[in-house]
Amino acid sequence: MAHPGFVIIGAGLAGAKAAEALRHEGFDRGITLIGDEPDRPYERPPLSKEYLQGKADRETIFVHRPEWYAEHGVDLRSNLAATGIDRERREVVLGSGERVGYEKLLLATGSAPRRLPVPGADAANVLRLRSVHDSDRIRDALRSGARVVVIGAGWIGLEVAAAARAADTAVTVVETAELPLLRVLGTRIAPVFAELHREHEVDLRLGTGVERIVQQDGRATEVHLTDGARIGCDAVIVGIGAAPRTELATAAGLEVSDGVVVDSALRTSDPDVHAAGDVARAFHPLLGAHIRVEHWANALDQPATAARGMLGDPLASYDRVPYFFTDQYDLGMEYAGHIEPDGYDEVVVRGDLGTREFIAFWLSQGRVLAGMNVNVWDVNEAVQQLVRSGDQVDPAALADPAVPLTGLVGTP
Ligand SMILES: Cc1cc2nc3c(=O)[nH]c(=O)nc-3n(C[C@H](O)[C@H](O)[C@H](O)COP(=O)(O)OP(=O)(O)OC[C@H]3O[C@@H](n4cnc5c(N)ncnc54)[C@H](O)[C@@H]3O)c2cc1C
Repeated sequence: MAHPGFVIIGAGLAGAKAAEALRHEGFDRGITLIGDEPDRPYERPPLSKEYLQGKADRETIFVHRPEWYAEHGVDLRSNLAATGIDRERREVVLGSGERVGYEKLLLATGSAPRRLPVPGADAANVLRLRSVHDSDRIRDALRSGARVVVIGAGWIGLEVAAAARAADTAVTVVETAELPLLRVLGTRIAPVFAELHREHEVDLRLGTGVERIVQQDGRATEVHLTDGARIGCDAVIVGIGAAPRTELATAAGLEVSDGVVVDSALRTSDPDVHAAGDVARAFHPLLGAHIRVEHWANALDQPATAARGMLGDPLASYDRVPYFFTDQYDLGMEYAGHIEPDGYDEVVVRGDLGTREFIAFWLSQGRVLAGMNVNVWDVNEAVQQLVRSGDQVDPAALADPAVPLTGLVGTP
């Protein structure tokens, strides 16, 4: 096998975009894209939003047209899991027993939703949300008059709650923290999301956990909380976070630490193996640290860098400011930057939290680490510039809507 070509494991957004980027860079040998789902690569954000609400057709979620793969010489092997990586022989082992040789390998295996570790969580109507199939099942559960319990008030849990209310389904959200999204947003901004959901008649049970799920004939009928409450239900949706799918990397002896550890060119500890998307813990030059980002924009953009790295470009380096978005009811928001839960010392708000039209900034020693625009548009580029600049800014000017954000970069 003189030129075995490049292999990508994981046919999600990152895998599909990597194949596209390799062709864009002029790579003209074989590309094999291996995916264990039956569908061709698709985008997941609509699965908890417009697709879940029945407002977007299935055809709108796919990354490429069905013909795109053959047209670009990408051998898409769907419904097929990679079960091992033989680094010595440079081969990927498939569930079918077949082996595919690689010259360079990209791991784009994404992440998988965590299971709820309580008795009864194996009931048929306890659902998690990752795939389009999961979204279809949840949509079936969101009927007028039905009762669902959402476990976890993170982004996905809250988006599902919003979709449920749009379907006139009664929703209880259970969250162990005292506020939704507390870890990400902190005590000043998280109440905005609590208020939003309460206004839409979501029953928020905060500061409490799930003790067990009561089943009848294999179906969940009641959720028992640690505070003693019992909530009747027709379905339970679990949204308590996701874990990177690192099994293959670990078994192959690559460096793994809550994600496959890669440098800024997205190269693992083996220079012939790269990783991108949810599964990668990449060194971020701007932050000077390794971070793992479970967001759409990261899976969309990192593959271009991975492709250049795989092709040996010494300048390949991924340093975009992390970005994500959410839509819940009439609230749309974009967030840029990266902070650890206690990694800031000040929150500055420009606009009005009450009317939910504002930009919030998280600062450390006068520098903007992250910013979130809520129902205020065409400002995220400027927020990203502020984060990227690392400049100290005057908090009063930051809070003042009359001062253009772009004018704050480079000011003392
Ligand atoms: C419901 C939902 C809503 C979201 N909404 C937003 C949002 O609003 N904004 C935002 O920024 N982000 C959002 N995200 C996150 C975003 O979708 C992810 O960051 C993105 O999908 C990551 O892409 P990926 O290609 O790295 O991984 P994935 O999309 O997980 O793709 C990985 C693929 O690899 C496959 N795979 C894994 N192991 C193997 C193997 N051994 N063999 C073969 N195939 C394998 C998986 O089955 C999967 O198909 C959302 C995610 C979900 C689930």
